[in-house]
Amino acid sequence: MNNQKEIILETFSPEETFALGEKMGREAKPGEVYTLIGDLGVGKTVLTQGIAKGLDITEPICSPTFTIVQVYEEGRMPFYHFDVYRIGDIEEMDEIGYEDYFYGDGLCMIEWANLIQEILPEHYRQITIEKEPEKGFDYRRITIRSI
Ligand code: ADP
Ligand code: MG
Repeated sequence: MNNQKEIILETFSPEETFALGEKMGREAKPGEVYTLIGDLGVGKTVLTQGIAKGLDITEPICSPTFTIVQVYEEGRMPFYHFDVYRIGDIEEMDEIGYEDYFYGDGLCMIEWANLIQEILPEHYRQITIEKEPEKGFDYRRITIRSI
């Protein structure tokens, strides 16, 4: 835990969060894993849509809640979008063959990754989005940690 790098960014509108995601998508490298943590309605989908745009994906990004993973192949690398919010048992990850995605050649994005902590790879980029009501309704603090 000693060599953790942490970047804190602030956005003041959904458009700004989308633009940040787009930049992250443009800079993403095959095989990277990003985790995304934050309460309902905080902007996880907005950020993910930006990332998809940055990967040159034009089809709409839907929440994969009922399928655990949604795969997008049309961008400049595959995009594996996980939402493990409804996972009952870690076995479900084995059943969908998660290792092919986590250790594959695409960008892997995992919402609610804290629920599958024990199978996360050794290194990943942890993205946390938080509100802070005193700073305004549209304020978001986005913390990016290299783990
Ligand atoms: P989640 O996927 O985390 O449940 P969504 O991305 O679906 O959340 O929704 C976020 C909501 O918050 C949207 O209605 C969006 O317009 C709004 N919003 C307001 N300010 C921001 C901001 N700075 N960044 C992202 N979303 C914001
Ligand atoms: Mg969402």
